[in-house]
Amino acid sequence: MAHLRNNNFEHLRNKAFELGFSSFAVAGIQLPDRYAAKYRAWLDGHYNGTMDYLNTHLPLKENPRLLVENAMNVICVSFLYRCEDPLPNDPDHGYFSLYARGRDYHKVIKQKLNRLAEEIQTIATDCSLRVFVDSGPVFEKYYAHEAGLGGTGRNSLVISNTCGSFIFLGEIITNLPLPITGKTDFDPCKSCERCISICPTGAIMDNRQLNANLCIAYLTIEYKGIIPHALAARMGNHVYGCDECQLCCPWNRKKRYSQEPDFKCRYTADFTKLENLLKLGESDFLRTFEGSPIRRIGYESFLRNTIIAAGNSANTQYLPVLEDIATRTQSETVRQHTVWAMEDLNRNKTKVCSQTDK
Ligand code: SF4
Ligand code: SF4
Repeated sequence: MAHLRNNNFEHLRNKAFELGFSSFAVAGIQLPDRYAAKYRAWLDGHYNGTMDYLNTHLPLKENPRLLVENAMNVICVSFLYRCEDPLPNDPDHGYFSLYARGRDYHKVIKQKLNRLAEEIQTIATDCSLRVFVDSGPVFEKYYAHEAGLGGTGRNSLVISNTCGSFIFLGEIITNLPLPITGKTDFDPCKSCERCISICPTGAIMDNRQLNANLCIAYLTIEYKGIIPHALAARMGNHVYGCDECQLCCPWNRKKRYSQEPDFKCRYTADFTKLENLLKLGESDFLRTFEGSPIRRIGYESFLRNTIIAAGNSANTQYLPVLEDIATRTQSETVRQHTVWAMEDLNRNKTKVCSQTDK
């Protein structure tokens, strides 16, 4: 069996920091039944929306040794992604989640984790390992907590007491015996409930879990098709993702910015004006968001989200461009949201006129 000497462990930790990771910690592979049961109950309640892959992943999540034979440990890393924010956040500008303003994080983090994995394999040549970032079949929040990276917030995110919650998580599952760095007792929330009261759609449930069906991040990114009008009306200017439950969190009050050049914001205030986003055609969309996670949602969802934002803006200057989209679109989703957006803006126009007449 492959082994690491103590100084090699320190070497790996240093390598992780050199690659830009904010933390490097280790959890044992064992998973308590109660954790899997809680997750299964969440799936049974259909709180995962249309993300069926979460059901498909369950057998692997519950049995990580199906991913790596004789797996013993999970190396957990975090990477700070918050970029400096030069973009206005108001009803006439589309909001893009902070994690999505630079290069696709899947690629950036995976490359770095692969480099860390190579380093492990040069030290322990006969070990087996696999690397996971984000949507892999791994209970990443559980292992991050077990390894001592942070505690789980009411918004369901892992919160580090040094970096806050604007972090990506990554894992290396390995059969290599490693020193476990230790679970933290850190409860980031205590009596705080700020994110629950600020969430625009009431998506944060008890028990530090989310109802994805109501979450704007899910609706704008994962969900395809027509969003119920009443829900869309609460989505504000969110075109891609939502950071409300993180921006309000006291653990993010101190603004720590990522030093990673790939996560620098690529967009300008002018670009995110709704009047400009509404005019982007499909080829412009594909070209502009080349290499960005935003491209993954596809043009139809992007346009739908931008139309919803225009409908929520109360700014009637968007009516002509919405009328133009309604006459040209082949998409039932886009057409329906355009009709609702125009109705909402016209209703607002009538309200303003009648107030002026008084
Ligand atoms: S991402 Fe937005 S919608 Fe989702 S839980 Fe957080 S505040 Fe609510
Ligand atoms: S805002 Fe408050 S309740 Fe929500 S995650 Fe942060 S500390 Fe916890």
